[in-house]
Amino acid sequence: MTDKKAEKITGLDLMREPFEAHLVSKLPKQTKWMTEAKKEYKNCKICGGYHHPQAVHLDYVGHAALTHRLLDCDPEWSWKPVALDERGLPLLDANGGMWIGLTVCGVTRLGYGYPDAKKGKGGDAIKEIIGDALRNAAMRFGAALDLWHKGDLHNAQLEADKREPEPADKREPEPADKPVAKKSAPKPDYVIQAEKVIKQIKGCTDIRVLEKIWLDFKDVRESIKVANTKTHDYLEGKYSKEIAKLKQNDEKEAA
Ligand SMILES: [Zn+2]
Repeated sequence: MTDKKAEKITGLDLMREPFEAHLVSKLPKQTKWMTEAKKEYKNCKICGGYHHPQAVHLDYVGHAALTHRLLDCDPEWSWKPVALDERGLPLLDANGGMWIGLTVCGVTRLGYGYPDAKKGKGGDAIKEIIGDALRNAAMRFGAALDLWHKGDLHNAQLEADKREPEPADKREPEPADKPVAKKSAPKPDYVIQAEKVIKQIKGCTDIRVLEKIWLDFKDVRESIKVANTKTHDYLEGKYSKEIAKLKQNDEKEAA
């Protein structure tokens, strides 16, 4: 940090400082149909990878960068699981996730992490749960909030994996009020944000996951509301529809 004002920021305020560009990584995420459409792959100028041009890029701060930030804010920062099993080890919940308390500068906030279904149940999965929970809890302190706005890596991949491929001719026609701008014009930020929220909530198969994603996007939704109420209403409608769908499924299963 070069500017003098930034040098003075410490403690909890420092948690909210944006991460420098070189600490932010770009990760392309594509849905199943994109993954399968290999003929359409192109070299990507954004991440330098080779993938479908419609893939979404998620910005994220890796574990090392986040740990650095925590240490800069409070060398004595710590975390601990909310619940322990009979052996004194962190207790995972029924979803295989873990709640933690993250303490920075004497303030403790809760965070929740859960494993990537594809990575099984080994030691790597546990490390991932911890990393995910730390990112989630750190967000409650405002860490990398601007990046979280753009999407949670984890959820994006889970949801992208669950989504069914759609035949090209059956892809939903876009209504005029849909928050998607014409390709020639640069999209306003609130549209990009809204698209990312929709991308994550669409096709979600677990009501609790859906609710968590929705909650995680609270600040984003507020900013969208400020920017454009119509887009915000559209987003709320999408969410209600997804919730209704899942509730209907639950009732069907219970019957
Ligand atoms: Zn890319």
